[in-house]
Amino acid sequence: MNTLEHPAPPESRATVGAFDLFERLAADDYEQLVILQNRETGLRGFLAIHDTTLGPAFGGVRIKPYAGERDALDDALRLARAMTYKCSLAGLPCGGGKSVLLEHPGLDRAAALESFGAVVESLRGRYFCARDVGMTESGLAAIARATRFVARDPAPGLGDISEHTAIGVWHALRAALELAGLRGKIRVALQGTGAVGAWLARILAREGFELVVADAEDSRAAAVAREAHARLVPAGEIISADADVFAPCALGGVLNRETIPRLACRVVCGCANNVLASPEDGDALAARGIAYVPDYLANAGGVTRLADYFLLRRGGSGPSLMRIYDRTLEVFRAARESGITPERAAARLAAARLKARKTFRDVSWEGALRPQA
Ligand code: NAD
Repeated sequence: MNTLEHPAPPESRATVGAFDLFERLAADDYEQLVILQNRETGLRGFLAIHDTTLGPAFGGVRIKPYAGERDALDDALRLARAMTYKCSLAGLPCGGGKSVLLEHPGLDRAAALESFGAVVESLRGRYFCARDVGMTESGLAAIARATRFVARDPAPGLGDISEHTAIGVWHALRAALELAGLRGKIRVALQGTGAVGAWLARILAREGFELVVADAEDSRAAAVAREAHARLVPAGEIISADADVFAPCALGGVLNRETIPRLACRVVCGCANNVLASPEDGDALAARGIAYVPDYLANAGGVTRLADYFLLRRGGSGPSLMRIYDRTLEVFRAARESGITPERAAARLAAARLKARKTFRDVSWEGALRPQA
């Protein structure tokens, strides 16, 4: 398989051993991997820069416990590459990066995040970081004590990134519904009512959609259900809920060999990253006649806002977010014309934009970015 054609590397290449690290980096053409270690603060982790062909690498900081170093490294590499594809497909002037920090008993969280910020600063704008799983406002503030290249979110002028992600999902969903010929009273089964899921529920309720919601944390789902007049179901039942649309807004890997046969919907469109457990799961969805909007196409609204604000100096992102609607139509058209899944068509389009621009370069993006004040 052409490695450029799917953002999630197949399982066989997912494991990183001590001696195949360079092969792993070369296989997907990573530019840089920083190993983060600071004995004093307990900082341990990886900062991966996949590709800066289109601009400085943008990517969140994930902080959580991992089963081991390999898992953490693998997460950083996989997510950095997905960011490159997301930015390329969305037509943004930025590339892909990601940081993964390990939570462990010896970690002094605030101090470690500040020492992480110092590393980010040393990259002089090649990597710009933002919130991801496990990150808090106070964590972002700690990073910002040492670097200008971090998005404190929410922030005046920038707004709430999760809300922008949800608006992007809404535009992708509008296109997918149109393509599937679905109109009238549409029912959406929404999995995960966290930061983005809650915003998406609000938007869908306002647009007159019927909602069924679930979250692993019942109280969170109940609050959103009240606000969006949604029906509440147990987390284990949301995948098979009777609905036109399944919106995965929780974790990755939720669509796999076991869950796909249980889907009762016509469209899948949500914000979660790495929704498909493998590229073959995209084929299984297509075989069932379910239109799958690739995750990194639908969830590009947040990074679109960051690029607009920090690179293009735009006050608002309405028109940029609306481009996700056109991009979704384009991806489905390309898929139909080539007889491939939307997932593969999206990866092809993203790879083509990169390939057209790729030359070796070694530059700082310091001047291009509006650093956080
Ligand atoms: P979040 O942590 O705020 O919300 C996730 C929610 O999913 C939580 O409420 C959690 O309890 C719930 N959950 C976990 N496992 C579940 C399960 N098995 N069933 C039902 N609910 C479950 O995270 P978020 O920021 O809303 O992000 C959600 C997803 O979207 C993640 O995959 C993230 O990587 C992706 N994403 C987020 C953004 C953003 O702007 N925040 C941008 C792009 C992609």
